Amino acid sequence: MRKSLSKPGPLESFDERDSVFTRARLKPGTARHDEHYARHPEHFSADLRSRKLPHLASPGGQRYEVEAALLIQSQFAASDLIADAVEGSEFASAVGLPEGLAHGAGGPGAAHVLEDSSPAGLTLFAKNAAMFLGADDVGVAPLDPAHVYSHRGRPKEKHGHVPDLKHSHAIVLVFAMRHAYVASGPEMISTAEVARVYQQAAAACFALADSLRRLGHSARAHVDSNYLVVCPPLAVDAGLGELGRHGILIHPRLGSGVRLGVVTVDAPLVVDQPGSWGIAEFCKTCKKCAKLCPAGAIPDGEPSLLRGAEKWPLSPERCYHYWRTQGTDCGICMRVCPFTKHDTALHRIVRRTIAATPIFNRAFLWMDDLFYGRHREPKKVTGLGG
Ligand code: SF4
Ligand code: SF4
Repeated sequence: MRKSLSKPGPLESFDERDSVFTRARLKPGTARHDEHYARHPEHFSADLRSRKLPHLASPGGQRYEVEAALLIQSQFAASDLIADAVEGSEFASAVGLPEGLAHGAGGPGAAHVLEDSSPAGLTLFAKNAAMFLGADDVGVAPLDPAHVYSHRGRPKEKHGHVPDLKHSHAIVLVFAMRHAYVASGPEMISTAEVARVYQQAAAACFALADSLRRLGHSARAHVDSNYLVVCPPLAVDAGLGELGRHGILIHPRLGSGVRLGVVTVDAPLVVDQPGSWGIAEFCKTCKKCAKLCPAGAIPDGEPSLLRGAEKWPLSPERCYHYWRTQGTDCGICMRVCPFTKHDTALHRIVRRTIAATPIFNRAFLWMDDLFYGRHREPKKVTGLGG
């Protein structure tokens, strides 16, 4: 087994109030705003600079295109409807779920019973359902409490709440973005593809959680703008890939161009094991995303320990500021990643070789430059926060 990033621990939960997305919504002059910068004065100047820029997918961003902006906003609006429904019992009562099955309650009163309701039978149902609902891969991990937010940042009415999530397992769903759109980052249409896949993930996770509740289990979908958990480390625990230098999951078959959805459930399930595909080791040689990130947000050095786990320390402030200048969510690091390739026989051979030995890594990088272009370094943006 090849070495991947280690987790010497103790792992610490992330506070979602500290994420750049939550901070971007803080309104100057409010108690919430003042409380945050009293806790984190180091965030103040970077956030102030970003807040002055146009919102994502809005007129004024350098990559603004009206058609793509409409697609982005309308798809996120659809995701938000789902995100609202995972939180409350309104949906459950609207569709007539028995009392006790609303909002992840589960328990007695189950409407259905599986023929094989053993852990293996339930796991098989959950995985088949995830694939039927459009996932490209799925895995199961024990729910490590360290991957649950210490405090919530979103939605705004839940800001500061401490999640009360007692579920035992996480079912992690992987959704692939279409290559043509990944390849167009940082143009706005690539963000429209991100929004499309988030919407697909939200609908699939919502339906999966609902079906588990109908079997009598407490379950919750975690979807864009309404997560209680941090998805990438759960995906690693569920054997779905490794974290790359750019801080996102690299799936061994689908590469970097993926989005995640999670359903947590309180039920015995058969878990998958984390794996190693030589990805983190390849990242140590590659550094392509670090060289080509226009914001200088990705380090080109060694990984370091962050909240008990080894990872590359990114600058979310620099990344997010660049997003706001462009009006898109950039995605250059995903686009240039050598793992973001179609699943052809040739690419499978390369990936298997990378998984087996690092000795050809430099040669593969050279070939990536030769066949796919060196990806001329974009102009660095100045005046960034972080
Ligand atoms: S600015 Fe772009 S390339 Fe850099 S980390 Fe953010 S998304 Fe990736
Ligand atoms: S571009 Fe290279 S260094 Fe960056 S995540 Fe992909 S493989 Fe790793």
